[in-house]
Amino acid sequence: MKRAIFQRFIIMISLALILSGSIFGATISDILLKRAEESMLYTVRIVDHSLDYEGNLKEQVDSLKQVKGNEETRFTVIRLDGSVVADSEVENNSSMDNHSFREEVQEVIDKGIGYSTRKSNTLDKKLLYVAAMSGNGDYIVRIAVPFSGLEQYMGILIPAILISIGIALLLTAILASHFSASVTRPLNEIAEELLKLKDKNPEFHFKHYKYNEMNVIADTVQEMGKAVKASMDRIEFERMVRQEFFSNVSHELKTPLTSVRGYLELLENGMVTDARMQKDFLSRMKKETINMTSLIEDILMISRLETKEAEVTMSEVRLAPLVEEVCNSLEPLAKEYQVSIERNCRPVSIYANTQQLRELFNNLIINAIKYNKPQGKVKVIVSADAQDIIIVVEDTGVGIPKEAQQRVFERFYRVDKGRSKKVGGTGLGLSIVKHIVNYYSGSIELESKLSEGTKFTVRLPKKQIQREEAGVL
Ligand code: ADP
Repeated sequence: MKRAIFQRFIIMISLALILSGSIFGATISDILLKRAEESMLYTVRIVDHSLDYEGNLKEQVDSLKQVKGNEETRFTVIRLDGSVVADSEVENNSSMDNHSFREEVQEVIDKGIGYSTRKSNTLDKKLLYVAAMSGNGDYIVRIAVPFSGLEQYMGILIPAILISIGIALLLTAILASHFSASVTRPLNEIAEELLKLKDKNPEFHFKHYKYNEMNVIADTVQEMGKAVKASMDRIEFERMVRQEFFSNVSHELKTPLTSVRGYLELLENGMVTDARMQKDFLSRMKKETINMTSLIEDILMISRLETKEAEVTMSEVRLAPLVEEVCNSLEPLAKEYQVSIERNCRPVSIYANTQQLRELFNNLIINAIKYNKPQGKVKVIVSADAQDIIIVVEDTGVGIPKEAQQRVFERFYRVDKGRSKKVGGTGLGLSIVKHIVNYYSGSIELESKLSEGTKFTVRLPKKQIQREEAGVL
């Protein structure tokens, strides 16, 4: 860039020099010609005054030529009909052709004075001719001097021109380098600041620059830098979350797989001969397999919610029948845990995906049953206010300690690992619930008291407009 600015400066200054030089040259040539003409006209007048037209004109013009300084001047006296009477350069005037068509002669006849610059046929030189009517009106007096305009000053002009071009180019080079530095330095500094993006906590410090455009660039770059950093941080965070998730999943799968393998090896080696034991092993293996299947189903569910799967079929879902269906399907489990389910549903409906809502109720109610006490109760209440559908799932179970209440929505977080495993929990149930709630831009609250019970309150906005923008966990 520096180079390009520099080159352009030089090209511009060269063009400017050529242009101004040409205009200047033309003007000076013009002035020189005018001044020469004026002074020659004055000489013509003097010569006319001093000539004795009755005497020998040839002798007189020859003697004028003898005057010092006139060596190169040509004096001619012409009659009005164009015939030459006397010429200081030609001995025999009768040999000269008629001058009536010479430019300066014609002009004299027209206006009394005439000028011309041309090559003389007689002397084969470029001459400046100045002619005027004689005082008595019978003759034309003409003088001519070699005239080459500016050319004759070239000896002085060329060194002066070269020196001024040199100075101009030098100044231009200095200016160009200053200017290009003042443009490229800020850009380099901005680029250097941007390298800080690699730092963990970059602090950008942009200077205030002379050119406002640079400040605009600096501000924009700073904003972009921050945005890039934020998105890099987010990507890094997501990467870490994902990594943790995968390591958790592997860990969660490894334990049941190891135990299934152990049982299989024992059976394979014929170490277990007792038929009852064999059956027990098989049913343990079945239980582990079922757990793994539900773990994988939960993972798939989370992944679908996270990627905000495009093909989520939405429809108007009536909640009372859905709750009824879920509770009925969980009745055997409730019986197993000696827990009773109560439901109180207003006839409300919401525009949503049935499967997701079923999952939400299922996970909350299953937890309320599993983390309950024998003879315990589960209450499912669905109501609505002006903005939201309100879902409450309450139990009289073991409760969740205060310090764990924030964390139960994390993936694989379990308050009591042993109990969760025993009841076949994957540690993903509440995380899925939270994902679904976020999917509908809702909220979930938890109130719990140890040994007394837990209450989850979910609010889902009735108006589901900006769903695609709702963030998920
Ligand atoms: P899990 O599959 O282990 O049940 P969840 O994500 O559904 O996983 O729940 C996370 C943890 O929160 C559970 O392990 C349990 O300790 C606790 N928890 C969830 N619901 C309840 C509840 N209703 N009562 C008591 N503890 C609960």
